[in-house]
Amino acid sequence: METKEFKAESKRLLDMMINSIYTHKEIFLREIISNASDAIDKLYFKSLTDTSVGLNKDDFAITIKSDKEAHTLTVEDNGIGMTEEELENNLGTIAKSGSLAFKTDNDLGEDVDIIGQFGVGFYSTFMVAKEVRVLTKAYGSDKAFLWKSNGVDGYTIEPAEKETAGTSITMIMKDDTEDEKYSEYCDQYRIQGLIKKYSDYIRFPIKMEVEHTNYAEEGEEPTVTSEVETLNSMTPIWKKNKNELTEDDYTNFYTEKFMDYTAPLAHIHVRNEGLATYDALLYIPARAPFDYYSKDYEKGLQLYSSGVLIMDKCADLLPDWFSFVKGVIDSEDLSLNISREMLQQDRQVKIIAKNVEKSIKNELAKMLKNDREKYEKFFEAFGLQFKFGIYQSYGAAIDTLKDLLLFKSTFEDGKNVTLSEYVSRMKEDQKYIFYACGETKERIDKLPQIEKIRDKGYEVLYLTQDVDEFCMKVMINYDGKVFRSISDSDLDLYTDEEKEEAKKLDEENKDMFTFMQEAIADKVKTVRLSAKLKSHPVCLSSDGGPITIEMEKVLNAMPQNDANRVKAEKALEINPNHDIFAKLKKLYAEDKDTLKDYTKLLYDQALLIEGLTIEDPVEFANMVCKLMV
Ligand code: ADP
Repeated sequence: METKEFKAESKRLLDMMINSIYTHKEIFLREIISNASDAIDKLYFKSLTDTSVGLNKDDFAITIKSDKEAHTLTVEDNGIGMTEEELENNLGTIAKSGSLAFKTDNDLGEDVDIIGQFGVGFYSTFMVAKEVRVLTKAYGSDKAFLWKSNGVDGYTIEPAEKETAGTSITMIMKDDTEDEKYSEYCDQYRIQGLIKKYSDYIRFPIKMEVEHTNYAEEGEEPTVTSEVETLNSMTPIWKKNKNELTEDDYTNFYTEKFMDYTAPLAHIHVRNEGLATYDALLYIPARAPFDYYSKDYEKGLQLYSSGVLIMDKCADLLPDWFSFVKGVIDSEDLSLNISREMLQQDRQVKIIAKNVEKSIKNELAKMLKNDREKYEKFFEAFGLQFKFGIYQSYGAAIDTLKDLLLFKSTFEDGKNVTLSEYVSRMKEDQKYIFYACGETKERIDKLPQIEKIRDKGYEVLYLTQDVDEFCMKVMINYDGKVFRSISDSDLDLYTDEEKEEAKKLDEENKDMFTFMQEAIADKVKTVRLSAKLKSHPVCLSSDGGPITIEMEKVLNAMPQNDANRVKAEKALEINPNHDIFAKLKKLYAEDKDTLKDYTKLLYDQALLIEGLTIEDPVEFANMVCKLMV
């Protein structure tokens, strides 16, 4: 018989499993039971519409047999089974490409974390077993197969005998060592405990022959009897009463079901009656999965109809901005053989989705109010999604999300603030909610424009993520207070008197500014005096138009062809209180050629300050040298 090699990636994972020092080896049983339950789910689902399956709900079961002498543990199901091809594909390769992507990044000293993050399904058996045998027969097939492997030298598949459809997995336990007692996994009490801990909610009975010692009358030997017992309570956790459940129950269910070994930040457990009747158990994870912000991430809730799983990731139940939420919806209002397409149209699903959105919003608002630290942690992981949500929904999500947003602000040096906190601190004469864009807080702090605004005692929000300004542009205002970038042309920082004076000064120097603008005509629309600058000589402002300087940066950084490049309309602003202003005036009177050069230099400086690239760095360097010499 030919021994086949595992696929390379599988091999690495297996290697990790076998040599694992992971302390939670016991989870292997949970993984095997969960696979068995999935397999039964599939056949049970079929049996509802196809009488030829010939099994009733009560006929489905998972059976555990342990043999203490032989050191084996067998888990058997009468589910859908696997064909030879499926055996090959499912157990010969590992499907969880995610864990491998993670692995290559991490240079594998860290197997612990991988197991923790992803759960590794079937292969976890090799943490405890030196050999695993899978005997299986697919439903509808008349052939059975036996898959065998020690996890190291590949695997074999051979034809075998099996009467009914389903799968039986036998693990031959590793030999006990000083530190690890693998034989305990064949102990009935240990098994009972593990099933209670991890698999209690499994909807099908997990049966095992359990021995009871009957204590006898004095002088007589105790007798041992045994009978088959169901080890799990089978009621799904979401159907249980809240007061029956502990925090641990909720967490265990979450980690088991959603392969995230970090305890969730919060759970929402509701039973809704009314327009739609359903049970919901939703979780807010503590951290984003590694692929969360990629297009590979699939949002969705598990959808059950009266306890039967009908869809694993029902996307229609979650808006994009809450795509991080994990959980289960179980509704008796849904028909079992509803198709994906029909689900989208389904009125019940729409009502449930609306309610779910509200529940999540309320839970997050509660967390923000009662446990700020926790909320900030949450926002750190998922806040970006809210901003995308506002932008991508063209504002439809504003009402839901505006009070859940956090921004770093100049208030207490970069502390996170909500928009409502910002507004509550606004100065009497302050018209706008100010924000500043830049790569980091430190960089923004150095922007020339920010100085004067801060001096006035106005708070400024630091927008350091690409999507931030797009989000502000869609929101336009909060509570009637308009958002203004400190790079916008008109910030209304003048008093009426100052305005008059500035206007006068602008008039007086009009010709010079026109001359300067012509020197860099293809670059800026206007050159003018600045109301924003305190100690810095120049800055660039967005001069109206739909595209701001920050948006130009973000949009042009995306892969695209040149034709689609965008350009913000810019103004070069000069600080009238800076020495350079007097110098410019002098040059305008005496040496116009040099003024041209200086204008270019000032423009390049302003670009650099904004974090934009200068078009001709060589010319810039040459001009600086000329000045130095
Ligand atoms: P996962 O369950 O996350 O897909 P596993 O490595 O645990 O990953 O299992 C791989 C695949 O093998 C499963 O997706 C399923 O198709 C198949 N499989 C595992 N156990 C069984 C079983 N008891 N009956 C039928 N198919 C199974």
